[in-house]
Amino acid sequence: MFWDASSLKVERTGKTTRHIEVLKDKCVGCSRCVEVCPAGCWKISEGKAFWEKVENCLECAACFFACPSEAIVWRYPEGGEGVVYRL
Ligand code: SF4
Ligand code: SF4
Repeated sequence: MFWDASSLKVERTGKTTRHIEVLKDKCVGCSRCVEVCPAGCWKISEGKAFWEKVENCLECAACFFACPSEAIVWRYPEGGEGVVYRL
C-alpha cells in the first residue's frame, strides 16, 4: 500500500479521496498553512494554497487548525491508508 501522488489513489483499496482538500473560494492566501506544516507540503501560487507534497504529509492536522478561513477540509485518514513511515 502506498500513496500515488499523481493519481491520488491508494493502491490497496482503490480509494481516491484525499484526507485534505483546499476550498479555493475560501482561501485568502495568508500562508499560515505553509508556516505551520512540519513537512513542507504547502505552497502558495497566485494567492491560493496548494497541498503539493502529499506524500510527505504527517497527518498532524496543524494546517487545518491554523487556517483562519476554514479553507482546509480535513478527513481523518482511514486505518492504514495514510502516511507510510520509513526508517
Ligand atoms: S496535516 Fe500536518 S503534515 Fe500534513 S499538510 Fe497539514 S500541517 Fe502538513
Ligand atoms: S491557511 Fe487557509 S487561507 Fe491561509 S493560505 Fe492556507 S488554506 Fe489559504
